Amino acid sequence: MMRGFLSLGSNLGDREALLREAMDRLARRHVAIVQASRIYETKPVEVDDVQGNYLNMVLRIAFEGDPFALLDVCRDVEIALGRVRTYEHAPRSMDIDILLLEGVEVNDARLRVPHPRMEYRAFVIHPLADVAPDLALPSGRMVADVRKELGKDEILTVWDR
Ligand code: ADP
Ligand code: MG
Repeated sequence: MMRGFLSLGSNLGDREALLREAMDRLARRHVAIVQASRIYETKPVEVDDVQGNYLNMVLRIAFEGDPFALLDVCRDVEIALGRVRTYEHAPRSMDIDILLLEGVEVNDARLRVPHPRMEYRAFVIHPLADVAPDLALPSGRMVADVRKELGKDEILTVWDR
């Protein structure tokens, strides 16, 4: 059994419904959702055009299978939820990224785990801190510490449950 973390993001359509639907569809494809972060509304970053805000969250998951099988499931769910790949960093109904998988390192053209950019992204680190504040990141730093360093300029609202 592989254990790890996924990042979910949506800035197109009914973003909250899309997040819930993504969780349902992942579960139906045997991705066990062990824990879900709160939902964060965030400003789009790394984009040159004007785009709507994102809803982001992180899931702690368990999965029976290899990393590429998990990537296929994530890709299938994105497509089922209307994801169209137009240009880099375009608005998307659903983006599902594999952040970390316990004891797993993949460096392939299709898949890199741990996700190389996650430590620079407040929209990943803030929700990850909800479910795994003490987790050591690839740099050796703890999620909670990286969260403090990144600050919360890009975080607009946290949806308290
Ligand atoms: P991004 O998530 O970077 O905004 P995309 O969702 O379009 O962009 O993904 C681009 C490519 O990244 C995908 O085709 C996928 O194969 C690849 N990729 C590499 N590593 C990962 C990962 N850890 N999780 C998800 N996709 C990944
Ligand atoms: Mg992606």
